[in-house]
Amino acid sequence: MSNCIFCKIVRDEIPAKIVHRDDRVTAFHDINAQAPTHILIVPNTHIRGADEISAAHAETVAAMFTVANALAESHGIAASGYRLVFNVGPHAGQSVFHLHLHLLGGRRMAWPPG
Ligand code: 5GP
Ligand code: ZN
Repeated sequence: MSNCIFCKIVRDEIPAKIVHRDDRVTAFHDINAQAPTHILIVPNTHIRGADEISAAHAETVAAMFTVANALAESHGIAASGYRLVFNVGPHAGQSVFHLHLHLLGGRRMAWPPG
């Protein structure tokens, strides 16, 4: 997707604080962090959101969670706990339509979310 901001980050066309990159997945710090650790884990291929995921994406989605787990360890939040979030559509406030898994941690978070 030529016009997609996360595709551009994956292709290194716009800067981001990249913390992980492999054949399937790129992860980078959220530009507007909502917690001491706030990382976005995205597939390198364009998927519009969690509502587009099917069995065809099984390996990509598994890779996203594997990276999230590794980053939680390397950022020191695995033991204290963290939140993994996919926002889908207007009521959840999805603002970027390239699949991204939020990894949030480093502080206690409320439940239910506001
Ligand atoms: P959503 O609300 O769609 O689940 O989350 C989109 C996230 O992407 C937001 O937390 C927002 O701060 C982040 N974001 C939007 N544009 C950029 C950008 O250009 N760079 C980075 N690193 N994060 C971005
Ligand atoms: Zn994209």
